[in-house]
Amino acid sequence: MYSYAQHFTWGTGDLVLTVNAYAATSATEPLVPTTVDRRDVGPHDVLIEIKYAGICHSDIHTVRNEWGEAPFPLTPGHEIAGVVSEVGPEVTRHKVGDRVGVGCMVGSCRECENCKAGDEQYCRKGFTGTYGATDVDGTTTQGGYSTHVVVAEDFVVRIPEGVDLPEAAPLLCAGITTYSPLRHWGAGTDRKRVAVVGLGGLGHMAVKLAAAMGAEVTVLSQSLKKQDDGLRLGAKHYYATGDAGTFESLAGSFDLIINTVSAKLDVDAYLGLLAVDGALVNVGAPAEPLSVNAFSLLTDRRSFGGSMIGGIRETQEMLDFCAEHHLGAEVEVIPADKINEAYERVLASDVRYRFVIDTSTL
Ligand code: NAP
Ligand code: ZN
Ligand code: ZN
Repeated sequence: MYSYAQHFTWGTGDLVLTVNAYAATSATEPLVPTTVDRRDVGPHDVLIEIKYAGICHSDIHTVRNEWGEAPFPLTPGHEIAGVVSEVGPEVTRHKVGDRVGVGCMVGSCRECENCKAGDEQYCRKGFTGTYGATDVDGTTTQGGYSTHVVVAEDFVVRIPEGVDLPEAAPLLCAGITTYSPLRHWGAGTDRKRVAVVGLGGLGHMAVKLAAAMGAEVTVLSQSLKKQDDGLRLGAKHYYATGDAGTFESLAGSFDLIINTVSAKLDVDAYLGLLAVDGALVNVGAPAEPLSVNAFSLLTDRRSFGGSMIGGIRETQEMLDFCAEHHLGAEVEVIPADKINEAYERVLASDVRYRFVIDTSTL
């Protein structure tokens, strides 16, 4: 439910929309039901009725202050799938009733070389994050664990027919964050033998996407508990990293490794699994620094890289690719009052493979 209310910022008189949401109020307290204000729909804005919002591990890193002090109270959520319910007068890309998504960005400078190249995630001035960033109206952006959001039309993507909204929501972060480096590093084309480290939200999408791109995929998980799932998702091989023998038997056998682990990892051990010219690409974002022995890179001319989400154009490409290949996330849809429990389960690696909030329960 939502209601229009007069904005109380002195002298502006702008209309805002007050909508139901869940928010963290500190790094140590559980998230609680609340309301957030959405700005009035501007000429280039789209009002989205959010149907589903994924829970990304980044939400947890953020609200637990692992990446620095979060601006509390904060409504997380950057895997948004919903339906357009209002458009500003200048909007051309979307219309009322369209199924749309919003990922980790709601704005950028649009003028720098990276924005112009479609890499808004690398905007020279920094992109505007979907939550916890300063919005165009000076307020702090609030994310997808809410019923509605107002976003500039050029940061809203179309969810194609063939991908249901609950399965689409996680594509907006987990999907694009794995699609972008898989494409950039040539998974399935230049680099055939691809390993995915960590079978969580990002990891399970990396497996599906890499397999659909034609790669021979191996899952490297802490244990063999999820082996059946990994093979069903498209992997050809599955190994437990808890077994020291894995690192010996797989030495030098991958062209590309995508590391999705949310915690600190022994980077040298994984570099040792790369063939000549192989690349280890980090998308996991642990709070602690990762260390690398130079000799792990010198040997076999290996690379160690990183990648952050993906641009808007590439996000649309990824969604269209998913529709074409009948891919979506594997989700467990939860009501809002299970958000805190879901956080604990993500932290315990007990997620198969993305929690998605049904926002009608907010
Ligand atoms: P997730 O669902 O919790 O998955 C992480 C997986 O890592 C777990 O399922 C687990 O897989 C493995 N893992 C966890 N703790 C581990 C440990 N101590 N040692 C070894 N493996 C461990 O998280 P997610 O949502 O996929 O996000 C993963 C990471 O990517 C987070 O740090 C997140 O912030 C980051 N991220 C980065 C970007 C970007 O733009 N680069 C975007 C989104 C998220 P197994 O049980 O299979 O071992
Ligand atoms: Zn995310
Ligand atoms: Zn820019």
